[in-house]
Amino acid sequence: MATFKDFRNNVKPNWCPGCGDFSVQAAIQRAAANAGVVPEELAVVSGIGCSGRISGYINSYGLHGIHGRALPIAQGVKMANRELTVIASGGDGDGFAIGMGHTVHAIRRNIDVTYIVMDNQIYGLTKGQTSPRSEMGFKTKSTPAGSIESSLNVMEMALTAGASFVAQSFSSDLKELTSLIEKGIEHKGFSLINVFSPCVTFNKVNTYDWFKENLTSLSTIEDYNPSSRMQAMNTLMEHDGLVTGLIYQDKDKPSYEALVNGFKEEALATQDINLEKEQFDKL
Ligand code: SF4
Ligand code: MG
Repeated sequence: MATFKDFRNNVKPNWCPGCGDFSVQAAIQRAAANAGVVPEELAVVSGIGCSGRISGYINSYGLHGIHGRALPIAQGVKMANRELTVIASGGDGDGFAIGMGHTVHAIRRNIDVTYIVMDNQIYGLTKGQTSPRSEMGFKTKSTPAGSIESSLNVMEMALTAGASFVAQSFSSDLKELTSLIEKGIEHKGFSLINVFSPCVTFNKVNTYDWFKENLTSLSTIEDYNPSSRMQAMNTLMEHDGLVTGLIYQDKDKPSYEALVNGFKEEALATQDINLEKEQFDKL
């Protein structure tokens, strides 16, 4: 049995002091240990951006890929070796701008990969430009008069694309973040976990204090039921996407692996799906 310390290596992150990504790294290490994964059974695939460096900071298999392409690589790794727990990670620019096509199709495909996005609403590595997650009016070097584009509500987008696991957290809340990543690893299918991970150097609007004031925990909403897609969508709309917790989980949606000939017997043995066996036999 591994502990989170087994997922540490001797590479010192070169993130700015105070960057939210440190907590995400710690949460992945803790969640993997809690889920009973050992380093040689974990692969972390990342894209380009400050957060993309994370694959080098975790003691596991790792691949620092190209911009926006963490998900195609991660899905290939999973299909080539289904014994591995596969985590894909990167920033909001990586996943929701250049990589958005891959994000949508990985969501609907439902391959058993956990995708963790470190969402700082800006491009940090290139020194502060507007991202698809920046709010309208946000001033950066690329939008000196304020962004004239609306921010993408990624959680609503994920629900619309047919996601089977959608969660959101804040890098300050290590306990919740760890628990959500652990749930994502254990989920049989694609899990999207968006993490508000402040860029302390370039984003002076969406700071730790800003998130503390503006985020609502789903645990404070009476009778919130994460198996209701309708309630998930309504809640996101009511709170402008600024909620944290497990937003939606559909345990009955078969994973991609469960529908692929040659793989499905093995996958179905570990996935408790409420569909008739005959439906699979026809595929
Ligand atoms: Fe983190 Fe921003 Fe520094 Fe990049 S520039 S390491 S996102 S604080
Ligand atoms: Mg970013």
